[in-house]
Formats: sequence, C-alpha cells, structure tokens
Amino acid sequence: MATIVALATPLGRSGIGVIRLSGADSLAIIQKLTNEASLRPRYAHFTELCDPQTGDAVDEAIVTYFKAPHSFTGEDVVEISCHGSPVLLRQVIDICLRLDARLAEPGEFSLRALANGRLNLAQAEAIRDLIDAQTTASARQAVRQLRGEFSNQLQPIKDDLLNVIVVLESALEFVEDDLPKTQAENIKKRLEEIVEEIGRIASTFQAGKLIREGLKVALVGRPNVGKSSLFNALLGSERAIVTEIAGTTRDQLHEKLTIDNIPISLIDTAGLRETSNTVESIGVERARRAMADADLVIAMLDASEGFSAEDKEILESVSELDHLIAINKIDKANPLKTAEIVEQVNSAIRDPRSTITHISAKTGAGLDVLKRAIVEPFEPREFSDAGFLVTDARHHDMLVRAQGEIENSLALLEQGTSEEIVLIGLHNAMRYLGQITGETTTEDMLTRIFSTFCIGK
Ligand code: GDP
Repeated sequence: MATIVALATPLGRSGIGVIRLSGADSLAIIQKLTNEASLRPRYAHFTELCDPQTGDAVDEAIVTYFKAPHSFTGEDVVEISCHGSPVLLRQVIDICLRLDARLAEPGEFSLRALANGRLNLAQAEAIRDLIDAQTTASARQAVRQLRGEFSNQLQPIKDDLLNVIVVLESALEFVEDDLPKTQAENIKKRLEEIVEEIGRIASTFQAGKLIREGLKVALVGRPNVGKSSLFNALLGSERAIVTEIAGTTRDQLHEKLTIDNIPISLIDTAGLRETSNTVESIGVERARRAMADADLVIAMLDASEGFSAEDKEILESVSELDHLIAINKIDKANPLKTAEIVEQVNSAIRDPRSTITHISAKTGAGLDVLKRAIVEPFEPREFSDAGFLVTDARHHDMLVRAQGEIENSLALLEQGTSEEIVLIGLHNAMRYLGQITGETTTEDMLTRIFSTFCIGK
C-alpha cells in the first residue's frame, strides 16, 4: 500500500503546520529529509529538514515517528511539525511526493486506521464529527462516540440477537417439529426486549440531530424594520466559533450562531433579494425558497411605524410555515401603539398559537425571550445531553431498519412461520447493526462515508 502524505493542519499562515505521513516508506522518506540515521519511536526529535536533491535547508522542525502498529493508522506514521508557512509546507509535501509518497484522499488516514482495526467505523465518524462540531455539546457527543460509548451500547444488543439466531438455526437443523412453546415464547420475549432497546437508542436522535445540525432560521420583514440590527444583535453575543474552510466563499446571507448549545444558521432573506435586484423576481423566489427551507421564520414588525399592508402580506406568507413574530423597536414606540399592532397581527394571521415577542434590537430588550422562543419548540421534551445521543442520520437509519426487520420477524414468529423465514429478518437486522460500526459495511459505502472527511484526517 502506498505511503500517503497530507497537511494535517488548515492551509494558511500559522505558528506551526503539521504534515503527516503514513505507510511503509514513511521512515525512509523522513530519513532522507532529515539525514537522521535513527529516529526513536514516539520521541520528539528537533531536527533540520533538507531538500535531498539540492541539499538546501528547508526548515527546522519537530519530527515524531510512530512505529507500526502503535500509530493512529496502524502503519508507520511520521508527523512533521514545521513552521506554518503555506509556501514552506507545500515545499515539504512536494519533497515527500518526489520521494514516492502520494497525496492522501479525504479521510484516508482514518480509513487505514479502520482497515487495520485501530478504530471502528462509528469511531472514525466520531473524529470527523468532532472536527466539524460547532458547539461544545456536539463536540462532547463526538468524544463519547470516539471513546466507544455507542459501540458499547450496541454490543450487548448484537450479542443477544446472535444468541437468538443461534437457537433458531440449531432448531432448524436438529428439531424435526416446531419449536417447543416455551422456547418460542422465550425467543419472542428476547426479541421484544431487543426491539425496545434499539428503539430507545434510536429515539435519542431527535435531540442528537438538533445538537449537531441545529436549526435554519430565516428573518423576514419590510425594509428598515431592523433585520440587520437583529442579525447583529443576535450574532454579537452568540457568534459561533466557525473556522473558514479553505476554498469556500463566504456567504454574506448566512451567519452561524449558537443558542443554548444549539447551532443556528441565520438567513437574512432581504439580503437574498438585494443580491439579485437586477432580476427581482428571481430574488423573491430565492427568498421564498429560503423561507420554505427554514425550520423557523421570524417575521419582524416595526413598533414605531405601526402595521402596514406590506406587513400583512408578509405575515400571510409565513402563516403556513413554522414562524414567530418579533415586534421590534419597542424602545421608541408608544405601548398603546404596540398593543394595537398585536391586535392587527392576530387578525391578519388568524393563528392564536403564533408566538409574538417584543424586542429592541437596539437596546437588547426582549432578546433573551426571543432566543428561548426560537429553540424551545424544537427541544425534545426530555432534552438533556447528559446521556449518549445518536447524532448521525446514517446511524439512525440503520437502527430504524434493524428495528423494522426484527419487528417483522416477530410478527412472522407469532403467525407460526417457519424458522427459516423468521431468520431472514434477524440476519438483515444483524447486518444493519454491523453497518454502524463497520463490520458489514460495503466498500462503496465506506468510500461514500470517507469522502465526507477532510484531507489529512
Ligand atoms: P433592515 O432594513 O430591516 O435590515 O433594518 P436595519 O437593521 O437596517 O434598521 C433600520 C433602522 O432602524 C436603522 O437606523 C436602525 O438603527 C434602526 N433600528 C433597528 N432596530 C432598532 C430598535 O430596536 N430601536 C430603534 N430605536 N432603532 C432601531
């Protein structure tokens, strides 16, 4: 297998940049790069990097050699910590390529770790999720998964299911007649317990998805109601820590923030309109699509201006969507006028369940209430990130499929169908559970999963 090389830190200027090599030639490559005859495994070596072709000094670096199988990938691995100059890092990688390494594909280090049994699929995915985490809560869940908590919860279920399969299979081989009644009852009971446990784990996905993917929230309102001001006021205190990914252009209309550990993607639909004012109809269409795509639409009104025909139109357009109404500029409005607006809102939207909040984007009044109102309807009732949560849609899908297969087999068992038929569903369930941790995952599924990883991981 080829030796691979990649930058493990983001591309850009930084104090230190780390390049990682993995594969059988890693040690030979680093020896040529450093002129170090022997590198003691797991020791940091301060050394000089030289271009073996020209003999020119390239940089001073800390080099660490991890001898197989005691490395992240299970192969020989070398980590080179150079100074974080993009030009220099490129040069070191080029030298490695000249020395017969090849550039790693996205996630290839993790894929090799999986192939060498250093981690299972759910753990490899946890590393990706940890790197992508936008909140401390989602980072915490990823670490739990990385430490094997998910696999540990699945293992007893798989063991139980396998036991049932073994009993049914031996019945198939050795018993001429049907299963004895007590044994059949026992198997049913065990399968029911398995279904219940899978269902319990799968049900944590509602909270897990919220923590990981968060909510898309769109802001609408006529010009000057204060959308940009609210945008900034919400971002000011809650801006999410999101690092730019090289190569993606920054989208001016989306901003990320977090409210109570839930990532929020905030979209200003007015911005959508402004960017394409040459073709106004396309802009309006895009704004509508953004609204329809959002989990929640915040319709803004201006308390100091009163309720206009345009406001009414906007409220009508959001009435069918999940929405809440924010009456802004309460700092400069007459409370009587605000009460009047509330009445007009109620008659325009004809939905007494619409939440109306009173805010001032300028002074910050009411923003805490607004923030709670944004996330509250989406929080599952028993929301808590104290327990392990399923955060990945793929894992959830596999759990639901496994559950469905076992339920099917249970129904067949009830009807007295032969063990042979009952077993098909149980084997399928076993396969689905195995796909979570990777034992039964096909090659092209792995390729698809690992293409979502970043390069250098
Ligand atoms: P947009 O067109 O909807 O994005 O509105 P802007 O955020 O640009 O705000 C329009 C004007 O209203 C600006 O002059 C803001 O300073 C002002 N404004 C926004 N929110 C408030 C508020 O809560 N109170 C007061 N007094 N002025 C506000």
